[in-house]
Amino acid sequence: MSSLTELYQNVILEHNRSPRNYRVMDDADRQAEGNNPLCGDQLTVWLKLEGDVISDVAFQGLGCAISRASASLMTAAVKGKSRREAEELFERFRGLVTGGPSPADSETLGKLAVFSGVSQYPTRVKCASLPWHTMKAALDGAERRKGGTAEV
Ligand code: ZN
Repeated sequence: MSSLTELYQNVILEHNRSPRNYRVMDDADRQAEGNNPLCGDQLTVWLKLEGDVISDVAFQGLGCAISRASASLMTAAVKGKSRREAEELFERFRGLVTGGPSPADSETLGKLAVFSGVSQYPTRVKCASLPWHTMKAALDGAERRKGGTAEV
């Protein structure tokens, strides 16, 4: 096992153990539920918007280490970002986990690059991308819309 792989795994384990922004947000503007039946991952993402900026984001749910860690890192990544910036991050992340990114992309993605390894495991791609799809569904939806899917 390379030390880089080890580092990546440590980040995932750490975020799985103590996920960031893991709570119910009672006064959220937007909400979406995501479901990945292949693995059994389920989560809810809440967003608070100030104009076009994601001022707060939270999630809660049940799932494997990859989905929880990805949700944790997703919330940390999009908090304080504009809608467009969050959507761009999502596109880059999707490129990373489906194996189509340039190396430069994995650099600009920072900690999110820990998920580059999942591109080798198609079933895990859905675990890693589910929180992002759910965030996007919350962003696009009207208030309290249902709609995250496990599609890549
Ligand atoms: Zn999973």
